[in-house]
Amino acid sequence: MTPNTIAIDGPAASGKSSVGSRVAEALNYLFFDTGLMYRAVTWIALQREVDLADEAAVSKIAEDVPIDVRPPSYADGRACDVLIDDDDITWQCRRPEVDANVSIVAAYPAVRTALSKQQRRIGLRGEVVMVGRDIGTVVLPEADLKVYLDASAEERARRRYDEIVARGEKADYDEILAKVKQRDHVDSTRDVAPLRPADDAVIINTDRLDEDQVYEKIMGLCQ
Ligand code: C5P
Repeated sequence: MTPNTIAIDGPAASGKSSVGSRVAEALNYLFFDTGLMYRAVTWIALQREVDLADEAAVSKIAEDVPIDVRPPSYADGRACDVLIDDDDITWQCRRPEVDANVSIVAAYPAVRTALSKQQRRIGLRGEVVMVGRDIGTVVLPEADLKVYLDASAEERARRRYDEIVARGEKADYDEILAKVKQRDHVDSTRDVAPLRPADDAVIINTDRLDEDQVYEKIMGLCQ
């Protein structure tokens, strides 16, 4: 039987979103990228010039601001829409200043409590592919299928580099690699819900696999 809830976790740039959205599309499930919620809180805090070291102020944003993650309304490369009061902030969530600060925000326990609660509520409706860092361990530990995508930091940085260059923008590989490693470090050493595979997750190392191969593997696990 096809799993009703699918959790895909893994480090930054491990390909969770691209593969997860394809799996969701094939199964006609909702695709929910939970990282976008942490990114949205970070973007709002930056916009409001809230000091990111002020845990109480940042947590209040996560508790008070309704963040909506919905199926994409534009075919511009996004896998989900991110809305705040009907304001589309999807691409703002991908800005470099958000990349650089999101792990700090995501390490605050009250931020995690507020966002995980919303994520769990959506996940429990079923027919969902949820991607993140702690879906199989904390948000939906009862998920029917748990996948943990892994790849070396060098390979993940190379993929990010290729993506940016393909968009016609300039990129510095060493800088990207340093940022990937820094985000890995913060995400896997935080006290609450650190990045780690669930005990019953299927671990897929994607260093030598392309996106199609990873997709096929996950679809195979769904059968
Ligand atoms: O997946 P993405 O790179 O967009 O996630 C951005 C950040 O949000 C991660 O580096 C991590 O700090 C945080 N995150 C998290 N738990 C999740 C999803 C994302 O802590 N379930």
